[in-house]
Amino acid sequence: MTDPADHAEIRESVRRLCADFPGSYWQAKDRTREYPTEFVQTLTREGFLSVLIPEEYGGAGLGLGAATAVLEEIHRSGCNGGACHAQMYTMGTLLKHGATEQKERYLPQVASGELRLQAFGVTEPTSGTDTTRLTTFARRDGDHYVVNGQKIWISRAEHSDLMVLLVRTTAREAAAKSSDGMSVLLVDMRDAVGKGLTIRPVRTMLNHATTELFFDDLKVPVTQLIGQEGKGFRYILDGMNAERILIASECIGDARFFIDRASAYAKDRSVFGRPIGQNQGVQFPIARAYVQLWAAAEMVNKASAMYDAGLPCGSEANMAKMLASEASWFAADMCVQTHGGFGFAEEYDIERKFRETRLYQVAPISTNLILSHVATHVLGLPKSF
Ligand SMILES: Cc1cc2nc3c(=O)[nH]c(=O)nc-3n(C[C@H](O)[C@H](O)[C@H](O)COP(=O)(O)OP(=O)(O)OC[C@H]3O[C@@H](n4cnc5c(N)ncnc54)[C@H](O)[C@@H]3O)c2cc1C
Repeated sequence: MTDPADHAEIRESVRRLCADFPGSYWQAKDRTREYPTEFVQTLTREGFLSVLIPEEYGGAGLGLGAATAVLEEIHRSGCNGGACHAQMYTMGTLLKHGATEQKERYLPQVASGELRLQAFGVTEPTSGTDTTRLTTFARRDGDHYVVNGQKIWISRAEHSDLMVLLVRTTAREAAAKSSDGMSVLLVDMRDAVGKGLTIRPVRTMLNHATTELFFDDLKVPVTQLIGQEGKGFRYILDGMNAERILIASECIGDARFFIDRASAYAKDRSVFGRPIGQNQGVQFPIARAYVQLWAAAEMVNKASAMYDAGLPCGSEANMAKMLASEASWFAADMCVQTHGGFGFAEEYDIERKFRETRLYQVAPISTNLILSHVATHVLGLPKSF
């Protein structure tokens, strides 16, 4: 919850839009692990996914603060932005590091929603968080790269036209530094699927449209390289701050959802002849969740403001994401407990949101890796890896 006075109009419009997508809509999608196409199309049509794209390319040209307001309200309403949030920020790699010709070719179509750029291919099964050990390799062959390798947990790949893909163009051993020798390719999935790219869905505990990707001699034109060859890791890191702040705002929205629901239920549900919320054993966890929510929201605001001011904000983005994901998880657990048996009933949406918000302590970056960053980069403790 950023300051509710901020972006009040955007928040109000998002809330109105979300009212057309009630719990029953999400429950049905969740049951069959179906992509929420109607929801995504509506958000796209109303321009909410292009808020960060500059006006010259057809977007709203707003800052990250506006984008956090959109995602927070989506989650606060009981909806989920995971099906499309990457359409907001994945284009940042292209915007910041792409050539003018690439930006002019793609960004207006991404802004209008004609092209979906919401697949982001970094994680691999064998390297995990140790990104510099990724092995998917793009070998230069004339005016093409030939890509071979495998990715895991690449969300929305089946629902995206383009993918920002991180590959090695120089083997780790041959690079001057372990973070050198990686490059970013903008893969046109429409040309790639069935011609060297295979997408296999991975069913998970939440409805997230995530997949495994197999590259088998996929040809990608050299014109699809973003920025300079070998510098891709830096470009990706750059985009991760925005991603972490935006995901944190989803957590803030989730925490708000759980606190709203728990407060309402605790006032309404009567056991032993009085509302359960009259018992301090029930009140205090709700109040604690609220306190944690505010502390996390302040950190998200701070990180977002620093990002919009163009200041380095890697540590703040990480801390915001950690605090927000812990606040939303505490609130989720509290909400289930407050609802007793009904916390487990599908029609209440609590169990679904509980499963959904659990993700954020693992992805897009796990809590341990954030603690490690703070310990070594901020506090100067010795590195453990
Ligand atoms: C639903 C879902 C969607 C995702 N979407 C995408 C996507 O679109 N694109 C993409 O590229 N990736 C995506 N991911 C991947 C996600 O970013 C990773 O799962 C996450 O970064 C953790 O990496 P890992 O799973 O490889 O865990 P590992 O790196 O294997 O780590 C496993 C556990 O060990 C801990 N650990 C590892 N090393 C250390 C250490 N040195 N010290 C202390 N603890 C350590 C970690 O914190 C973690 O808890 C997604 C994942 C999920 C589950």
